Amino acid sequence: MAIRNIRQIGDEVLNKTCKEVTEMTPRIRELIEDMIETMDDANGVGLAAPQVGILKRIVVIDTTGEDLYVLINPRIVETSGEQTGYEGCLSVVGKTGVVTRPNYVKVVALDEDMQPFELEGTELLARAICHEVEHLDGHLYVERVEGELQDTEDAVES
Ligand code: ZN
Repeated sequence: MAIRNIRQIGDEVLNKTCKEVTEMTPRIRELIEDMIETMDDANGVGLAAPQVGILKRIVVIDTTGEDLYVLINPRIVETSGEQTGYEGCLSVVGKTGVVTRPNYVKVVALDEDMQPFELEGTELLARAICHEVEHLDGHLYVERVEGELQDTEDAVES
């Protein structure tokens, strides 16, 4: 396992569309392990593969420190409600901004054994799922910020 370098805004890899994962390989397993370690090391609540420079549809999320989710080829199939709050990104360090997201999200994805599963999330988990899935399509939350991006040292980043 290794901690990988987290790409920062301005790096064009963050603006590309990621490709679906078609089979699990030792290399992809290693990538996932590294993503988990990199997220934990950075105290993030989520991380998408393009943030470590890999254009594959893989995200890891852990909003509580004890509920780790690995989502391969995630697809949001249902949303409802609304939440407005501060958001941050490990690829936009030291900043935060207000973003409105659904308060409930249902996502379908494959697990590390390429088996399909469903995950439902509310509040921070719903926010993190939306944030990470957008990374896979080359989008950063800063495109959605209402008002100004603000400086901070304690943003919840993913
Ligand atoms: Zn992010």
